[in-house]
Amino acid sequence: MANVIFEKITKEFDNFVAVNNLNLTVDDGEFLVFVGPSGCGKTTSLRMLAGLEEVTQGNIYIGDKLVNDIPPKERDIAMVFQSYALYPHMSVYENMAFSLELQGKRKGEIKTRVEAAAKQLGIDRLLYRKPKDLSGGQRQRVAVGRAIVRNPAVFLMDEPLSNLDAKLRVQARAEISKLHHELGTTFIYVTHDQVEAMTMGTRIAVMNSGILQQVDTPQNLYNYPQNIFVAGFIGSPAMNLFEARIINKEEELYVATDSFEFSIMPELVELYRSYQGKEVILGIRPESIHDPDYIPPGIEPALVPATVSVMEMMGNEVIIYLNTLTKQEFVARVDPRSRLVIGASISVVFDKSRFHLFDKHTDQIIR
Ligand code: ATP
Repeated sequence: MANVIFEKITKEFDNFVAVNNLNLTVDDGEFLVFVGPSGCGKTTSLRMLAGLEEVTQGNIYIGDKLVNDIPPKERDIAMVFQSYALYPHMSVYENMAFSLELQGKRKGEIKTRVEAAAKQLGIDRLLYRKPKDLSGGQRQRVAVGRAIVRNPAVFLMDEPLSNLDAKLRVQARAEISKLHHELGTTFIYVTHDQVEAMTMGTRIAVMNSGILQQVDTPQNLYNYPQNIFVAGFIGSPAMNLFEARIINKEEELYVATDSFEFSIMPELVELYRSYQGKEVILGIRPESIHDPDYIPPGIEPALVPATVSVMEMMGNEVIIYLNTLTKQEFVARVDPRSRLVIGASISVVFDKSRFHLFDKHTDQIIR
C-alpha cells in the first residue's frame, strides 16, 4: 500500500510540453482516475509514474520514496495496458506466473498466488488456455490477474476496457471497482471516457492540454466545476454554455444573453455585482431545464423562449434539442410525460438556482 505524489512534474518531448507542472497527491487506497481528451497528457503522466518515461522536471514519490531514478521493476507497481500485452505463446497460468518467476519466487507460492488471483477474477477454469483461445473480456481479466499476483503497492491501468464492447465494459467496470474495494490498494487509472471516470473514481483528475484542470470527487466535479473546460467535459449530454453579460436594470442585476435574460436571485447578487457590465459564460445543465407543463417543485423558474428541433425518447426521460431565438442550440432533459413536438415554439423553464457563471476571460468559475 502506498500514496503517490507528483510534485511539479513537467514532461517535454523535444519542445512540446505534454505535461505541464503537475502537482497531485494520490492517497493510499484511493482510486484516482486521470481523464481528459486524447493527447491531454494522461498516459504520459502514468508512464512517468511507472518509470517508462523519464520526467523532464519535478519529482515523483511512491510511498514517500523518491522514484525518479528507480527502474520500473523496482517501483512496486503493476501496470495493465490497453493492449493487455499478454504473451501469446504462454498459457494463462504462465502469463500470470511469469513476473513471480522472474522475482525468483518458489513454485508452491507462485501456484498459490496465481490460483487465488484466478479465482478472484473468475478465470480459474481457463488457466491452461492460450490467449488466442480467450474472449476479449477473459483476456482483460488475465491482464488484471497478472497485475494482482504481484501484490503491488500501486496498480496502474491505462484504458484497460477500451477493447471491450459496450455491455462488457459496463460489467468489467463494476468488477474493477469491486476488486479495488476488496484489495484496498491504490489504483491509478487512465481513461478518456468521462462516464468510466465518474463511475469508478473515488477522485478524478481532469486534464486538458497537459494541464491539470481540477481534481475532486465525481460529485463535486459535476456540481462545482471550476472552469469552463471541466463544466463542458463532465456530464452527458454536456452542460449548456451561453455567452452572456451581467447587466443592471432598474437597480436589479440580470444575466443577459442575446436572446433571453433573467434576474439574478437576491442571495447571489453580491457575488456577481463586481461583474456588472462584464462578459461571462452562463452554464446550465440539461436537467435544470424543464418542460413548462412539468415543472418540478422547489425550483426558481426563468422562462426562455425556444423552438424544439429534436426529441429523443429515452423511456425514463426525454432529451430535447432546442434553439434559442438567435438559433443557439441547447439541450434539456425533461419529464418523460412531455408532449412537446418538433417545431413547437415554447418557453422552457430554466431553474435559476442551478446555473453556473464563468469569467469569459479567465474561463474560471466566478465565486
Ligand atoms: P490518448 O487518450 O490519445 O492516449 P493521452 O491524454 O494519454 O491521449 P499522451 O499519450 O499522454 O496523451 O500524450 C500527450 C501528448 O504528448 C500528445 O500530444 C502526444 O502526441 C505527445 N507524445 C506522447 N508521447 C510522445 C513521444 N514519445 N514523443 C513525442 N510526443 C509524444
